[in-house]
Amino acid sequence: MQIQSKQPHIGTTIFTVMSQLANQYQALNLSQGFPNFDCSPQLTALVHLYMQKGMNQYAPLAGVLPLREIIAEKTEDLYGVKYHPETEITVVSGATEALYAAITALVDTNDEVILFEPCYDSYEPSIRLNGGKPIFVTLTPDNQYKIDWQVVKSKISAKTKLIVLNTPHNPTGTTLSADDLEQLAMLVKDTNICIVSDEVYEHIIFDGRQHYSPICHPVLQERTLVCGSFGKTFHVTGWKVGYCLAPKALSEEFRKVHQWLTFSTVTPIQYALADFLKDKSNYLSLSMFYQQKRDKFIDCIKNARFSFTPAEGSFFQCVNYQNITDENDYDLAKRLTKEIGVASIPISVFYHGKNDYKMLRFCFAKDDHTLEMAGERLSKL
Ligand code: PMP
Ligand code: GLN
Repeated sequence: MQIQSKQPHIGTTIFTVMSQLANQYQALNLSQGFPNFDCSPQLTALVHLYMQKGMNQYAPLAGVLPLREIIAEKTEDLYGVKYHPETEITVVSGATEALYAAITALVDTNDEVILFEPCYDSYEPSIRLNGGKPIFVTLTPDNQYKIDWQVVKSKISAKTKLIVLNTPHNPTGTTLSADDLEQLAMLVKDTNICIVSDEVYEHIIFDGRQHYSPICHPVLQERTLVCGSFGKTFHVTGWKVGYCLAPKALSEEFRKVHQWLTFSTVTPIQYALADFLKDKSNYLSLSMFYQQKRDKFIDCIKNARFSFTPAEGSFFQCVNYQNITDENDYDLAKRLTKEIGVASIPISVFYHGKNDYKMLRFCFAKDDHTLEMAGERLSKL
């Protein structure tokens, strides 16, 4: 018997590859994006409480109501947009599921989807598995990864079904501005193009910047599915709880897919998150917390011969290493893991053509001691 692979060119994700290498060489793991510190003990106590209370059976398909209600309240508070908890908010098993379900709900054979590269690694395969075609808009470091909306305009065709946004951005740490949204709105206003907006880092944004979600713009809001996650916000990447916000008609389509993917998401954690979200400081303090981490990391690498622009958001700092070596970024990321004991992610993996701009991504969601040790090792390069 022969198996015909549906994804013959897909290997294992870079996050697994680099984390495994980091473990093998006992390197400091600044590659895969996850904190090396724990979440609030109050949050784990709440999960325990709800497990003991017997909240251990299937949650409703759309998520437990108290969680959907508090997500609605938070979204209205922060962005001034109302989402109905019954019909427009769906809790899912991580943003990865939200992205896959949103793409699957909308993309059909030969539909085109505009992606800005470098982009998070799940987008392209999710599109291709649905028979869709990614159309890439390439962003580069010389231009600070800024979007040229005239280029986007030139890529839009009658087949364009979807545009995928990600702000704050993984891997580059950039953010979209109000002007970006305005320009996007002008391009899509008389079309049926939808938007999937990956906002898993919405609460990690620096230097007084504001998070601009497309839902803040009426032309965009009506066509946008927001994919959110509690993993990054509450230091619980292993819990895999996320959500999708979308107007009723889009949410209906989204739920049709979600019911066949996971049907519902882990029950006691949803109740715990609903309680934990009542204290706004639990997420409003996050930007300041991670800004200090970013600044700490930047200080730790000040003697390394990297050049970089400080991240505007997310918990990643990208650096250019061309003053050190002309090796390609993939080889260098592996060599640094093995030889100096610091693991990172090469940015080329996030480009479909594997463009090598001599950039590495470091995750600074680590305790200060780890950041200091990483800085010492990188400064010897
Ligand atoms: N999108 C981006 C940009 C991410 O960095 C991640 C990783 N947190 C995800 C989606 C997936 O999130 P989750 O772990 O909730 O599936
Ligand atoms: N989002 C994380 C990162 O960018 C990794 C998620 C994963 O391992 N799939 O590093």
